Amino acid sequence: LQSLLKDPSLLETRAYVNGEWTTGDKTFDVSNPARLDVIAQVADLSREQVGAAIDAAYVAQKDWSSWTGKERAAVLRKWFDLMMENQDDLGIIMTAEQGKPLAEAKGEVAYGASFIEFFAEEAKRIYGETIPGHQRDKRITVLKQPIGVAASITPWNFPNAMIARKAAPALAAGCSFVGRPATETPLSAIAMAVLAERAGIPAGVFNIVTSSSASEVGKEFCENQKVRKLTFTGSTEVGRILMRQAADNVLKCSMELGGNAPFIVFDDADLDAAVDGAIICKFRNNGQTCVCANRIYVQAGVYDAFAEKLAARVATMKVGDGLADGTDLGPLINAEASDKVVEHIDDALAKGGQILQGTGKDGMDGNFIAPTIVTGVTQEMKVATEETFGPLAPLFKFEDEDDVIAMANDTIFGLASYFYAKDLSRVYKVAEALEYGIVGVNTGIISTEVAPFGGIKQSGLGREGSHHGIEDFLELKYICMTV
Ligand code: ADP
Repeated sequence: LQSLLKDPSLLETRAYVNGEWTTGDKTFDVSNPARLDVIAQVADLSREQVGAAIDAAYVAQKDWSSWTGKERAAVLRKWFDLMMENQDDLGIIMTAEQGKPLAEAKGEVAYGASFIEFFAEEAKRIYGETIPGHQRDKRITVLKQPIGVAASITPWNFPNAMIARKAAPALAAGCSFVGRPATETPLSAIAMAVLAERAGIPAGVFNIVTSSSASEVGKEFCENQKVRKLTFTGSTEVGRILMRQAADNVLKCSMELGGNAPFIVFDDADLDAAVDGAIICKFRNNGQTCVCANRIYVQAGVYDAFAEKLAARVATMKVGDGLADGTDLGPLINAEASDKVVEHIDDALAKGGQILQGTGKDGMDGNFIAPTIVTGVTQEMKVATEETFGPLAPLFKFEDEDDVIAMANDTIFGLASYFYAKDLSRVYKVAEALEYGIVGVNTGIISTEVAPFGGIKQSGLGREGSHHGIEDFLELKYICMTV
């Protein structure tokens, strides 16, 4: 792996705590999900070491928050520049540990960096408020102040961007950051720390604590009183555990949790555009994103035509090692992930679904799965209620607009939703009726740093990106003065 990099020093395996490269008593293995070989052994920090990182972040935050917004913006901007200058190497490191095709990995680096650029700019615009007093001699001022130490837990599906989306607003706001990357993908996080150090982010402000024990780190984050903010991306199940743990310290939480995105194609849709949207939305990162289309509802009049066009496109998709040329879909992250896709395909077939395209696991080695389309899918099947997180496109048929809205909303989740239609009144009506934090209309891509990303219902709390994203790292303080 090192030989593929222009700058091999980006491939670091130690944790980054208080501006120092830190080892633990043990290491844990990171493997390549395509070839299944071990590519690195990474520092496995103890709970005490994580506590020490929080102590350092607590101290560093006091000074960092006294910097002007413009001063913080300058080093964040430098960090952004370094990420973009090293986009190729960061992409290779990511593909090696995560599996996604190299072009997607580089795209993620740019996407992650865009949050750093955006929030560098926002650092200068943390405006307070003056409110006319409630009595003649009263003056009311509202300050926005950084909440303090922000602790972050992130998943393996976007090893760079999930950290950037949290660290950038935290640092811009004047918080310090202690991040625990997923065990599967720590190398991308550590490489970000290498660049943070080079950018001149002061010691203790940005820390990466690598550990094989997520639950120990989660407990330390929730029980350590110096942490004032927990920001998590992952499953709803783990989000619930963390919120329960966070209750004792009344810790402010942001939660980006699971999704079960509906993707609806109405009779009046531009079918070619809908197929393009479905391909990108379903198969990006091999179906392993929380905003991937999980349920594809197609109106009866266009069901067969849509299915045929989608199948033709899926038939051309190339599955392989993400570092090889021409790969559209890499491996899934691990055996558990590929087993879940197989379980959903088998369940659908047992309940009357049919395979239109693809072979699922048949003929595929390791963590690879062929992109597969199943037709005749119904609300009784597992895919209707559970997130598949893999390259299975289940096609549901519907007749009526109100019925499909009811089916789309019939889930505990409320993150992303998508639909394709042209009729203007239908577009408004459906967009308003979908109980989701994000609605893509005639588009399959909704992620951008300039918009507020986040879910409702059991998909989460808080928003990431846009000017709203920084609010999660700020507290309001109101000063009431008698003059
Ligand atoms: P995913 O399916 O994306 O891995 P998880 O919610 O299982 O979703 O994991 C998201 C992140 O949360 C990962 O970094 C994982 O290691 C971590 N995690 C898992 N269990 C816990 C826990 N009990 N406390 C804190 N973090 C956890």
